[in-house]
Amino acid sequence: MITKTKNLVPLNQILNDALAGKYAVGHFNINSFQWIEAILEAAEEEQSPVIIASSDRLVDYLGGFRLIASVVNQMIEEKNITVPVALHLDHSNCVERCIAAIDAGYTSVMIDGSHYPLEKNIQVTKEVVDYAKRYGVSVEAEVGTVGGNEDGMIAGIIYADPLDCLRLVGETGIDALAAALGSVHGPYQGEPKLGFKEMKEIFEKTKVPLVLHGASGIPTYQIEKAIELGHAKININTECLQAWTKAVRKFLNNNKDTYDVKSILLTGKAAVKQIVKEKMREFKSSNKAG
Ligand code: 13P
Repeated sequence: MITKTKNLVPLNQILNDALAGKYAVGHFNINSFQWIEAILEAAEEEQSPVIIASSDRLVDYLGGFRLIASVVNQMIEEKNITVPVALHLDHSNCVERCIAAIDAGYTSVMIDGSHYPLEKNIQVTKEVVDYAKRYGVSVEAEVGTVGGNEDGMIAGIIYADPLDCLRLVGETGIDALAAALGSVHGPYQGEPKLGFKEMKEIFEKTKVPLVLHGASGIPTYQIEKAIELGHAKININTECLQAWTKAVRKFLNNNKDTYDVKSILLTGKAAVKQIVKEKMREFKSSNKAG
C-alpha cells in the first residue's frame, strides 16, 4: 500500500460532516489523469471536500489501482491541496476488486450487489465491509436499480425497497447507501422523477448518508430536495464527459490545422474544472473544507 497523504481521508468522515452541515459532496468520475488535476484544482479553489472516483470498468485502462492511488496522493502533495479528498472505487461488483482497491490505498469502495437477490447482496457487501473496516476504509452499497447504462449493464429503473435498505444497512454496517429512486446513468429522456416519499422513509429508517447516482441532468430544485432528505454524496460523470467533448470539438473545429495536443487537452481540462466548480456551488459544499 502507498503512503497516504493526510488529506486523503475516508469517505465516512466527509459524508458525516456533510449530513450535519446540510450539504452534499460531489463524486466525480475520472476519465484520465488530467481529470484528477481538474477536480483537485476545482476543489482547492472552491475550498470544498471532494470525492475522486474511478469506475471499476475504467481502472485497467487508467493503469490499475496502485497507479491511480499513487497519482492521486502525489498530485495532492505536488499541488499543495489542503481540502479533504476521498479516493473511491465506483460500481465494483467484485469482492476481490474491492479488496485490491483497499490494498492499493483507496479510502472508499462501492460494492454493487444490487443485481443479486437481497441475501446475496448482503453477503457480498458484508465481506467487503469486514475487510474495509480493518483499514479504516468506507463502503457504499446499492439497493434497487439505477436506470440506463450501469457500468456495462443496461437496466430499467427499479425503486429501492425501504425494508430491503434497512436490512442491508443493519446487517452489513455500510457507511453510505445508494438507494435507487428513479435516477438514470447518462442523459435523461424528459424530466427526472425522483421518489422523494421513499427517500424520506429510507433515510428516516436507515440514518446513513444516501448517495445519488446518475445526478447529471437532475434539476437543481430536485438536487436540493434530495440533500434535504439525506443525500450527502452526489455522483456526476456524464455532464463532465459532455463538457469535455463539447469543448474539445469546438476547439478542433475552430483550429482545423492544429496538432498542438497540449492546447487541445487543456481545453477539455478547463471544461471539466468549470463543471466541477458549478456542482460544488450547487451542492453547497464550497467553503466547507474546514
Ligand atoms: P451520470 O453519468 O449520470 O452523471 O452518473 C454518474 C454516476 O452515478 C456514477 O456512479
